[in-house]
Amino acid sequence: MIGRTTSGDGHDYVPGHGDESFAVQAYDLELVYTPDGNRLEGVATLTCEALEESTTLTLDLAHLSVAKVSVDARAARYSHRLGRLEVTLPSPLDVGEVCTVRIKYGGKPKPLRMRHHGEAGWEELDNGVLVAAQPHGAPTWYPCNDRPSDKATYHVIVSVPNDYLVAFSGEETSRRRGGSATTWAFEQPVPIPPYLATLQVGPYTERAQDASVPMRLVAPTDAYGEGSEAAFGPQPEMLALYEEKFGPYPFASYTAVITDDDLEIPLESAGLSTFGRNFCSGDWEHRRLVAHELSHQWFGNAVTCRDWSGIWLHEGFACYAEWLWSEEIGERTADAWARHHHKRLSGLDQDDLVLSDPGPELMFDDRVYKRGALTVHALRLTVGDDTFFEILRTWVAEHAGGTVDTEMFLEHCERVAGQDVRPVLGPWLDELPLPDLPAA
Ligand SMILES: [Zn+2]
Repeated sequence: MIGRTTSGDGHDYVPGHGDESFAVQAYDLELVYTPDGNRLEGVATLTCEALEESTTLTLDLAHLSVAKVSVDARAARYSHRLGRLEVTLPSPLDVGEVCTVRIKYGGKPKPLRMRHHGEAGWEELDNGVLVAAQPHGAPTWYPCNDRPSDKATYHVIVSVPNDYLVAFSGEETSRRRGGSATTWAFEQPVPIPPYLATLQVGPYTERAQDASVPMRLVAPTDAYGEGSEAAFGPQPEMLALYEEKFGPYPFASYTAVITDDDLEIPLESAGLSTFGRNFCSGDWEHRRLVAHELSHQWFGNAVTCRDWSGIWLHEGFACYAEWLWSEEIGERTADAWARHHHKRLSGLDQDDLVLSDPGPELMFDDRVYKRGALTVHALRLTVGDDTFFEILRTWVAEHAGGTVDTEMFLEHCERVAGQDVRPVLGPWLDELPLPDLPAA
């Protein structure tokens, strides 16, 4: 099947992206970026495994031009139109066989617009770049098999003019300064889907934070101050709380990038979250999102939904993590947040949202976040705190680096709790009316 990222009942969340006939095991990207003129030149080397007998592979690559494609070092025929790069294999692949696809490409990257989702991907800032790829923007900067179920490792080399700082969703392995450009190398050994890879380029400086894993802020120097301290200063304590509740941090480091530009919403990617300068304040609305993005490292980035119908497994849990942080610092308890939002939601329409498959138009609706968190809280009230956190820790431990769906979560709960939680969670997940919260 080509171009399907569909859920059981046929919702196509990101139509026309992804190829289920093969999986990418590793991306190796060599990039040269010139901010002046927004020019990107790249060579992408993909290690691909056939999941079906294949004579072609189809990759996603939007707006950029392909100059040359080879497969296992032999020139390959290809066609590239409407964002789909179809590569003809010099010899067919059997299931399980692996080939190396090398693509030379370049151009002026820009965001990709999609119905229901707006723009995503490569975005020029006043001075620099961010990539915010969820859910469909990864093909704006490299050729990829753009489906959340296809996780791969990354090795990325990027050259940019000196005096820019580059951050990637992985570990920096080297930084070599030349006459006019600096070459940065990164690797991400934990498999991640294409949308969780990001590149950030800007006139930034970095500041380390003292935490149990390497943690830092990356921001314009004049963005550091009282506001950034109020918003991001507590990150080490947040990390400690989440490690206690969810298990060990699943990546090697964590970076919070603060862009010079204001951003409407922050965004998570693997080992890195992106915030606008407007998030530098002590307002709860900002502090809660700092906690939210950090918690996505466990829920969304390490444990990723197989298709977008399972988005509540990311957003419901990250929203619940906000409430856990609030409780931890002596502000409103998780139960009080749950009752607050239950009351608020009960005043809203319920007749168009099925949490377990909200459809592309509602996948980022605030009700997915809040009803998702309420579902998590209903589970906690049903099984008790000890079993609840055991469910979360083992869920992450068993699926970090992998992909999941709602049914797997229900089975996991049943196994760990020793009871069928479907009678409680089913109405939250699969039915329209808002169930009552169990008693505290
Ligand atoms: Zn989120």
